[in-house]
Amino acid sequence: MSYKQTKVLTVDNVSGDLKKLSVIKDAALWIKNGEVVAFPTETVYGLGGNVFLDEAISQIFEAKGRPQDNPLIIHIASKSQALDLIGAPPAYAELLMDQFWPGPLTLVCVSKQKVSEYVTAGLHTVAIRVPDHPVALALIEEAGVPIAAPSANRSGKPSPTTACHVFHDLNGKIMAIVDGGSTGVGVESTVVDCTGEIPIILRPGGVTKEQIEQVVGTVGIDKALFEKSAAPKSPGMKYTHYAPNAPLQLVEGGTERIQQLIIEKQGEGMRVGVLATEESQTSYQADVVLACGQRAHLQTVAQKLYEVLRVFDEENVDVIFSETFPQEGVGLAIMNRLEKAASGIIIR
Ligand code: AMP
Ligand code: MG
Repeated sequence: MSYKQTKVLTVDNVSGDLKKLSVIKDAALWIKNGEVVAFPTETVYGLGGNVFLDEAISQIFEAKGRPQDNPLIIHIASKSQALDLIGAPPAYAELLMDQFWPGPLTLVCVSKQKVSEYVTAGLHTVAIRVPDHPVALALIEEAGVPIAAPSANRSGKPSPTTACHVFHDLNGKIMAIVDGGSTGVGVESTVVDCTGEIPIILRPGGVTKEQIEQVVGTVGIDKALFEKSAAPKSPGMKYTHYAPNAPLQLVEGGTERIQQLIIEKQGEGMRVGVLATEESQTSYQADVVLACGQRAHLQTVAQKLYEVLRVFDEENVDVIFSETFPQEGVGLAIMNRLEKAASGIIIR
């Protein structure tokens, strides 16, 4: 499908009853009728389509260039809407819904097979969540159907945290974008498998392992997150993601080690970028040094990560060196995304 130009519909004020706005009414009707429309969630912008319509779902895959075997997350407005789509969930899954919805936590549960098989890539499970964003919730309620929505970027590129990023990647490929400002969390939802005895984290994200443990006790982590040889239980985790155009290399060993590498690469005539933090940015002499939030507040790093990766593309650097982050709290999700952007290469 191609469009002359993708429409951008702006929601100026995201408070009050958004369902009354003509922007929301229009976008919801388009989605209900099978168009795909991008919209903000609290994590990143999503590209939404009606879960019951095969054509809408295939259009999402086409617009993104997403591999067909990578299933989509279904966005719903309430727990009861989730229970319509899944078989009886384990008790711990209901505890997680009660505690974290609306919020950046996606649960993988047994599917009642009501949705288009393209949504689940033919799996017997579905991934579902209630987003914590007034625009997303108003759209789902007004459309009256669950909305499948992967991140609204071209596959492989950093996820979009502004409507402008979506426009850059998908202009002409989708009908419309609802612009509701920058997203708050900045990294995608945490994906948790709820089909076994204990919950297993398949993808780290906005809700941390520590937060989940506080509610349900023991939590597992899919070993594919740490061992390259293991096959991930979440199909999407096997793909390279989030990658800027220039190769990104994660560097352990502090600012001095990175400065040595900068000098080496500049010596070879390269234009060098550094992904630093507000605390460290003045320690580097490189061509482009970008502060990605504050190390002391990892949440701010998550929020800026994708935007910073996209700025490196605009700056046309030849190589990017990135600092590493502690793998705890939201740091686990940050490092997971950076490792993917770096194709697993860490200079130790
Ligand atoms: P995205 O929407 O692009 O942020 O990616 C959604 C993530 O959820 C991908 O890693 C998918 O592989 C994963 N996912 C979606 N549905 C399932 C499912 N039924 N089982 C396991 N993982 C899933
Ligand atoms: Mg994505």
